[in-house]
This record gives sequence, C-alpha cells and structure tokens, in this order.
Amino acid sequence: MTLSCLGIGISSLHEIAIGDAYLLQQHTPEINKREISAESTEQEVARYANALTSARNKLTTIRQQIPGETAKDIRAFIDTHLLMLEDSALSEAPIELIRQHHYSAEWALQVRRDELVKIFDEMEDPYLRTRKDDVEHVVGLVQIALAGGNEPPPDNLHDRIVVARDLTPADTILMKHQGVAAFVTEFGGPLSHTAILARSLGIPAVVGIHQATQLLQQGETLVVDGAQGVVLAQPSPKMLVHYQNRMRALELREAELRRHIDLPAFTHDGERIALFANIELPEDIDATLQNRADGVGLFRTEFLYMNRRTPPTEEEQLEAYLAAVDGLKGIPITIRTLDLGADKTTSGNGCLPSVNPALGLRAIRLCLKEPRLFIPQLRAILRASAKGPVRLMIPMLSSLQQLQDTLDLIEQTKRDLQAEGLDFDPQIPVGGMIEIPAAAITARSFARQLDFLSIGTNDLIQYTLAVDRMDEEVNFLFDPLHPAVLQLIRTTIDAALEANIPIGMCGEMAGDPRFTRLLLGMGLRELSMQPSALLETREIIRSSNLKDLGQRTREFFAQLYEGEITPLFDRLFTNDHAH
Ligand code: PEP
Ligand code: MG
Repeated sequence: MTLSCLGIGISSLHEIAIGDAYLLQQHTPEINKREISAESTEQEVARYANALTSARNKLTTIRQQIPGETAKDIRAFIDTHLLMLEDSALSEAPIELIRQHHYSAEWALQVRRDELVKIFDEMEDPYLRTRKDDVEHVVGLVQIALAGGNEPPPDNLHDRIVVARDLTPADTILMKHQGVAAFVTEFGGPLSHTAILARSLGIPAVVGIHQATQLLQQGETLVVDGAQGVVLAQPSPKMLVHYQNRMRALELREAELRRHIDLPAFTHDGERIALFANIELPEDIDATLQNRADGVGLFRTEFLYMNRRTPPTEEEQLEAYLAAVDGLKGIPITIRTLDLGADKTTSGNGCLPSVNPALGLRAIRLCLKEPRLFIPQLRAILRASAKGPVRLMIPMLSSLQQLQDTLDLIEQTKRDLQAEGLDFDPQIPVGGMIEIPAAAITARSFARQLDFLSIGTNDLIQYTLAVDRMDEEVNFLFDPLHPAVLQLIRTTIDAALEANIPIGMCGEMAGDPRFTRLLLGMGLRELSMQPSALLETREIIRSSNLKDLGQRTREFFAQLYEGEITPLFDRLFTNDHAH
C-alpha cells in the first residue's frame, strides 16, 4: 500500500527510512454520558484510580528513558504532566462525580475536563491560556487507560517508524533520543513546527497522511520517503531493494560531501556566501559546528517557553543564551524574540484561542501587548550580547509603528541595564524578519530603520498565498515558486541592497537545495537553514557562477508572468549546465 501527501519536497541527505511501524495509541474513544448502578460505584472508583496509576506509570517510564544530556525542558514537560495528574481536579474531582451521580469513570472525567478547559479558555493571560493543551494531553492519557490502552512505549524505538495522529515537539525530541528512524503523522503540514523540528533533528518525516493510524498496522515494514512525501507499507522485495540502494547512495553522497566540509562557501567566481544555521535546541549547536556553519541566522526561542507552567525568568533565559553563545565558540548568533502563537504553542499542538490564530496575537504582537513577557527576554538577549557576537531579530513585523514601539522598548531596556550596571553590547545589531506580505512590499521603510533583514518564507508564503502552513488539505498550494512570492522576495532583497544592510533568508526555502541557485541569482548572500542542509548547499555554492546565475535569473524574471514557470525554473536552475 502506498500513502502519499503532497509536501514541498525538501530534499536532504536523510530523507529515506526503512523500519517497522510503531503505532502510538493516540486514539481516544468517543465519550457519552453513561451512569452506573449504585452497587458498582466503588468498583468504578477503583477503575478510575487504576487508570490514573496507569497514566502515571506511563509518564514515569518515559521520564526514566530520557537520557541525561537531554534538555531540562523535556523533563519539565513530563513533570508538569505528572503534577497535573496529582492535582485534585483530576485525582479527586472525578471520583466525587462517580460517587455522587453514579457517572461512569469516563463521563466523570469528561465533565471535569470540560470544566477545566473552560477555565483555561477564559484566562486573561494568553500564555496561561495555552496551557489548556497540557490538560488535554493528560486527560487523554487517562482516557486511553480507561479504554484499556496505555501500553508503555518500548524501551527504545531504534529503527522504528512512529505513526501518530500528531506529535508535540517534546514527543519528537524524546523519540529522537530513543533512536526513532522516522515519523508519519496524520495532521500537520511540512512547515508545521513539529515538521521543522523533525527536519532539524535530521529525522525523515511525512506529515498530513490522513487516517495513517488506521491504515497502517503495528509492526509492519514501512518505507518513508521524506522528500516525496510517500509512505510505502509492506513494500515488495523489489521496492525494498530500490529504497535500500537509494539510502546507500545518499550515505555515500554524504560521506563524499563531508570530505570537503572544511572548504569555505566561495562561489566558483570567488564570492563568499555566508552559510548560517537555524537552531532551537541545545543539540542543534553541535550540528551547527559539525556542519561548519558561519554562524546562527535564526535561534528560535519558543522552545524555552514551551512545556512549563510559567515563562522562563530573565536569568533562565540568560543561561540558555549564554550556553548557546559559549557553545558556538565565537561564531555570531541571531536570537529571535519570542514567536509564540499559531503553530508554536506552549505544548505544541493547540492554538491560542482565536478564530484564526495565524492572523491573531502571535510573535511581536503578543510581545508588545505583554511587556512582562517581553522585557525579561530583551534584557536576557542584551545581557548575552556582552559575552559574544549576538544579533537581535524581531519576528512578524507588519507595521512601522510596531517597529518603532519595539525599538523604543529596546532602547529603554538598554537604559535600564546601564542604570543597573549590567553589561551589554550597545551596538547590538537589531534586525527584522520579513514574513508578512505588507512588510515585504514596504521593505524599504523597514530597511531604513533596521541593521539587517531576514526573509521568513514559511510565513511569507503562507500569508501571500493564503495557505495555512499547518493544514494538510491545502498544503499542495504552498508554492515557493509562485510569482507573487518571488516578486515579494525580490522586492525585499532590493530594499536591503538599496539601504546597504545585510539581507538573509531563514525560511525553509533557504535550506532547499533546489532553490539555492535562484536565491543566489536574486542577490542573496546569506542563507540560514537546518544544519543538516549545510553540506549540500555549500557544494552547490562552490559549483555556482554568480554572473551566470544573475543572467539566468533575469531571463527567469522576464518570463515570470508568461505561464507555467516550473519547467522554465527546472531548465534554468536545476540542470547541471546551470552551474
Ligand atoms: C519563517 O516564517 O520562515 C520562519 C523562519 O519562522 P518560523 O518558521 O519560526 O515561523
Ligand atoms: Mg515565521
């Protein structure tokens, strides 16, 4: 059986995996009101108590399996869930309902769950509101136990392919440590946060496969082709050999590329291109150094805020930023201020309560509304800048007023630090992400006030084409080569060049080797990507001639509005003669 999902086909050296399916039991049965007889009340209470124990055991087992070097945040995530299980809202309140109203354990839990969710929904603080996802997660564990599920996960997932409805970022990282070979999920688009995380961890993944948990069987052999967005179940021996050969060819190619790893990214005609890494987790720092990045072009800081009860303090953040600055051994790091909301919620699989979260209170909008959330982060980033080359980057800018408010806040924070005698780099470069079409169209005005720009194509494409990056139903429309997208990228690059400030790209498009030559031809000299894509991109740069690519790009843009552009793109940029 072949299941497929249209992805944007990011090619990488780790795009294929072969292994046995491990189906995560994430299905919770539908729950309806049911009452039990008075005599069986205590039996029902005992059943509920057993389910709590089983959920607790499951979490404890997972916690014990976390290796020592894993980020503290992962442990904190599990601890938060264990605490929630102990809370009287889940440990006692449902039992009261069973005793008083003779509700079934399932229904008693459901009633309490609905009450809790309502409380979270009504919370003023948008950060706390997002904790609702944790409640759902913990209740889900108890529901599964009541339905007789909750098998503890195997001790190690070595070479297994995990099939799930959805995965939180914490699940993804945990499984990476357990040696998982690949992921297949029912929900999400290739640019959802979990997919980006999987990619940065070098795990092949196909997301958005409808009903995957029902169509695929526990233990059957699967082939996951992350580049094509294809999952093959029980492949024929011929197919298996084909994919084994492809895996082998990719391994050989990687070994070949690694031989040139220390050669800097000069084009064939001698221009140096800056190759930066996108990072998020402590483990990404090693990958950044191993792949010889020139710096970090995007440090996503949301992970520090996820999986915990309260936002991290200034000191906690400072510790994390200094660890990154130290770990990077002197290469520059661009720390992006918080971009919570939409695809990045505090537990990774829910949304801030807005009818349309991607258009709602997210990123800089949330930060400006909640200075108590924002200022500790600004202080921590500024303080970290005293210890190494740090740049500060603002996500999701759409208006100049917003930019002005942010710059004012940064200046005020600098004055406060100075008054307190705390060190920072007074010249810290402040840049902005261009990821909203309005900002791209008016990039000139942003370029005049900022020290650098970085194009975030994941959001820029989502907002330009009105395609939800998380939605598996429409992600086939997500097209980096859409003329409108290319036009906006070009406008942004031209604005930065005119203002004489550095311009880079840190969306996934920058790490897709198919687009490297076009982006160089359009004038980009700084690309930031998942560390595993650096090897291949460096090789393409080294074989490219900028003059030639400039010409091809002009030819391409001259025909941009003439019809189907993919064949033209392929002819100009993907064939060997385009080098
Ligand atoms: C982007 O939007 O392209 C980007 C890099 O930011 P994120 O994926 O974190 O939203
Ligand atoms: Mg973005």
